[in-house]
Amino acid sequence: AAEEGFDIEDVEGAIEAAGHGPLPVLAVVGRPNVGKSTLVNRMIGRREAVVEDRPGVTRDRVTYEAEWAGRRFKVVDTGGWEQDVLGIDASVAAQAEYAIEAADAVVFVVDAKVGATDTDEAVVRLLRKAGKPVVLCANKVDGPSGEADAAYLWNLGLGEPHPVSALHGRGTGDMLDAVLEVLPNAPEQSFGTAIGGPRRIALIGRPNVGKSSLLNKVAGEERVVVNEMAGTTRDPVDEMIELGGKTWKFVDTAGIRKRVHLQQGADYYASLRTAAAVEKAEVAVVLIDASENISVQDQRIITMAVEAGRAMVIAYNKWDTLDEERRYYLEREIETELGQVVWAPRVNVSARTGRHMEKLVPAIETALAGWETRVPTGRLNAFLGELVSAHPHPVRGGKQPRILFGTQAGTKPPRFVLFASGFIEAGYRRFIERRLREEFGFEGTPIHISVRVRE
Ligand code: GDP
Ligand code: GDP
Repeated sequence: AAEEGFDIEDVEGAIEAAGHGPLPVLAVVGRPNVGKSTLVNRMIGRREAVVEDRPGVTRDRVTYEAEWAGRRFKVVDTGGWEQDVLGIDASVAAQAEYAIEAADAVVFVVDAKVGATDTDEAVVRLLRKAGKPVVLCANKVDGPSGEADAAYLWNLGLGEPHPVSALHGRGTGDMLDAVLEVLPNAPEQSFGTAIGGPRRIALIGRPNVGKSSLLNKVAGEERVVVNEMAGTTRDPVDEMIELGGKTWKFVDTAGIRKRVHLQQGADYYASLRTAAAVEKAEVAVVLIDASENISVQDQRIITMAVEAGRAMVIAYNKWDTLDEERRYYLEREIETELGQVVWAPRVNVSARTGRHMEKLVPAIETALAGWETRVPTGRLNAFLGELVSAHPHPVRGGKQPRILFGTQAGTKPPRFVLFASGFIEAGYRRFIERRLREEFGFEGTPIHISVRVRE
């Protein structure tokens, strides 16, 4: 590194920054207008501007990456949506429930000027039941005179209220310090895999693609009731299902059942539910209704899984209904609409007839293997050296930026850091990604490539 003009500390720092696996998840919950979105904006700062552009794909974000005191985590924002037909208590509770389920820790935001309301109390009950660590944010304390209002919130029984002004930034640093104290370094969920527990699958897709039908089929019994109303007893959230001789954990299957929220219009619930499921999973099985045109909503769901950095399999369902003409057009649509995920293993299934159900597990295993692939540094640099000499970066302004060396900083998904002598254009980065995939596989996984340029 030194002879290439990089400071060894820069190199180590870059590798460490890029090298994380799945990040812990923080949910920000509370009533509308208490300041959740304002607070989340403060946590993510300017980072949001630094997103990779994926042409042609609309984003509707629920999760963001944030960093505080050198630690990275994800934030699930439940703000920014209108109260819907469910009524205020039910919609706040539903949002909070979804977000809490996927979270490793929770920031509960209360408007200190208003004090605790009945709706706040309802969320407190959910938080108690969930048993996740909670940091209580007493928001809208814009100056010292508001501190007394914050102190009233001790009554909620959630411990110390942290007086904060999300709007002006007052107290947010102290509150985030408190968050970091309770937030684990890695998602709680991944501890299961560390000790060889079952792998976690999220079955996702827009309404009516056949998620509950598929779950029924693979679970081997009619355990998911289509059109069931939200039950009076709490459904199990995750389900263990045996497939191909192994036990898998299907996360958030209750969300597939609780169709009442989805039917009552709010796309938002579907988004939040999908985001929550994806965060809890290692691999996403995205179901697409092959009998219909691939929609923007299908693409959004795929984008969510990709941005979350999960392994992915795409299952085209309702294959039993396809005639030759539809099959022809489907292939064209896949080419034009889903070009950014050509790397995802594909299965053509029918939840109705059971067609190709046996192909699901091998596809999932392939995707998980790709997700965990590690390329030794020596092999990577031999590959990069050949690539750079055979296909040099185009000359720009009389200079030719070169990739000097690289390393894989992490897995789940694979993350690479490349060190370059000058700015590397997006087209060349995509070329490198393509060649990396050709050389090393990475089937079923997004890969991240960051480039450091020598000062
Ligand atoms: P959400 O619905 O919980 O996401 O709330 P928002 O973040 O949209 O904030 C609701 C309103 O409260 C907006 O008008 C914000 O500007 C305002 N607000 C948020 N945080 C503060 C704060 O710390 N102090 C004051 N005075 N207003 C705030
Ligand atoms: P979900 O909203 O994604 O859970 O979708 P459902 O499982 O409720 O399925 C929606 C509709 O599609 C139901 O009427 C199912 O019977 C039907 N369906 C699901 N899978 C298939 C399939 O493979 N073939 C056919 N022909 N219909 C299916």
